Amino acid sequence: MIQPDASLVDPFGRAISYLRVSVTDRCDFRCVYCMSEDMTFLPKQDLLTLEELDRLCSVFVSRGVRKLRITGGEPLVRRDIMTLFRSLSRHLEAGALEELTLTTNGSQLSRYAADLAACGVKRINVSLDTLDREKFKAITRWGDLDKVIAGIDAAQAAGLAVKINAVALKGVNEDEVEQMIAWAHGRGMDITFIEVMPLGDIEPARFDQYWPLSQLRARLAERFTMDEIDYRTGGPARYVTARETGGRIGFITPLTHNFCESCNRVRVTCTGTLYMCLGQEDAADLRTPLRASESNARLERAIEEAITRKPKGHDFVIDRATSRPAVGRHMSVTGG
Ligand code: SAM
Ligand code: SF4
Repeated sequence: MIQPDASLVDPFGRAISYLRVSVTDRCDFRCVYCMSEDMTFLPKQDLLTLEELDRLCSVFVSRGVRKLRITGGEPLVRRDIMTLFRSLSRHLEAGALEELTLTTNGSQLSRYAADLAACGVKRINVSLDTLDREKFKAITRWGDLDKVIAGIDAAQAAGLAVKINAVALKGVNEDEVEQMIAWAHGRGMDITFIEVMPLGDIEPARFDQYWPLSQLRARLAERFTMDEIDYRTGGPARYVTARETGGRIGFITPLTHNFCESCNRVRVTCTGTLYMCLGQEDAADLRTPLRASESNARLERAIEEAITRKPKGHDFVIDRATSRPAVGRHMSVTGG
C-alpha cells in the first residue's frame, strides 16, 4: 500500500522542512539587542529533558523535516548537550536528515568542536558582530572576544565549515563591515549580515540600533564588486560573491525585504512551544501531548493542527513612532 505523504504542508503550500530548536533560554552573554541585563530565566523543571527534545525532533524528522538547527539561548551551555547531538546523529546516518547544525556565540566551541564534528555536524553559524575587543564587550556585556576567536579556530581545526553571522548595528559596527568581510573571507568563512528585529523589550531603543541592510549594501558597493548568486543554505539569507575576495556575503533582511513567501521553517522552544512564525505570537503547546502518552499520535496531531495555522508572514516595523516590539518574547526564547 502506498503511504500517504507524511510531509507537513501549510495552507500557503509551503512544505515545512526546517526545524530550529532552542534547547535553553539561558546564555553566558547578554547581547544588547537580544536580552536585557537582568533576564529572568525559566525554572529548570519547565524545560524539556534531552530525551524529550530528541523525541520531538525525531517526530518532525519522520514528518519531513530535513534540516535541524540547534540554537538557544546559548545551546552549548545546556548541560550534557552532546548527548542530544549524539542521539540525533542517527537520523543523519539513516539518511532521514540532511543536515544537523548549530547556531552559537562561540564561547564554548574550543571544548565542543571535535565532538560536534564527530556527531556529523558539518557547518555551524557563529554570531560575531565586531572584531574590536572593547566593542565586543559593549555589545555582549559578558563576552570575551579571544575565547570566541579560539572557538572558531577549534571549529575550523575540527573540519567544521563556519559561517559568521553579524547583526548590523547603527553606529556600532558600521565602520567595520569591510574589515570583517576581509577577515572572514581570509579564513575561508562566509559572512552574513542581519537586520535587527523588534523582538522582546530591551533597554536601548530599537530604532537607535537599526541599520537597514540597503544602506550597508550601498556602503559595501563602494569597496566590493558584488555578483548575485543562487547559493542557498535553506535559510532566509540571499548571497552575493565579492569579486575582490572570492568569498560569499549573505544578507538577512526581515525588515527591508520580507522573505516570508518561501518560509520553510518552524521553531520549538526549550519548553516545547511551537512557533509557526518568528514574528507572530501564535503558538502551539507540544509539551502536553508529548508527555500525555508514550505514543506519538497525539503529538503528531498537535503538530499537524499547528501547521494549519502557520501565518503568511510577519509584519515587523522599526521606526521612531513604534516603540513596542512586534512580539514580547526575546530572540533567546524562540531561538535565532
Ligand atoms: N546564542 C547563540 C548565538 O548568539 O548565536 C544562538 C541564539 S541567538 C538568539 C541567534 C542569533 O540571533 C544570533 O546571531 C543573534 O545575533 C541573533 N539575534 C538575537 N536577537 C536579535 C534581534 N533582536 N534581531 C536580530 N537578530 C538577533
Ligand atoms: Fe546569548 Fe545569542 Fe542572545 Fe547573545 S544573541 S544574548 S549570545 S542568545
